[in-house]
Amino acid sequence: MMLLPCPWCGPRNAAEFRYAGETKARPDPDTTDPHRWRDYLYARRNPAGWTRETWLHRAGCGRYLVAERHTVTNEVRATHPPAAGGGGAAS
Ligand SMILES: [Zn+2]
Repeated sequence: MMLLPCPWCGPRNAAEFRYAGETKARPDPDTTDPHRWRDYLYARRNPAGWTRETWLHRAGCGRYLVAERHTVTNEVRATHPPAAGGGGAAS
C-alpha cells in the first residue's frame, strides 16, 4: 500500500486519490504557438526518478495537490497545495 500525505487530511491510502498527471505550467492559449500547446497537452517526461505530479483526493477533501514522487520506488518526499495561478495539470 502506498501512503500519500494530503496537505489537508494527512497520510491516506493512495487508492483514495486519482492521478492527474505530471505537473507543468499551462501556456496561455491566446499567445502560445501550436507546437508548445501540443507539448503541453500530450508530451510527458515520464522520468525514472523524481517527478512532480498532480493528484486529486477524490475520496477525501476533493482538493488537488502536488506530490513529489519517485517513480521507481514510489517514495513521496513532499506534498503541497498547487501553486496559485497554475502549475497544476488539472484545474
Ligand atoms: Zn485531502
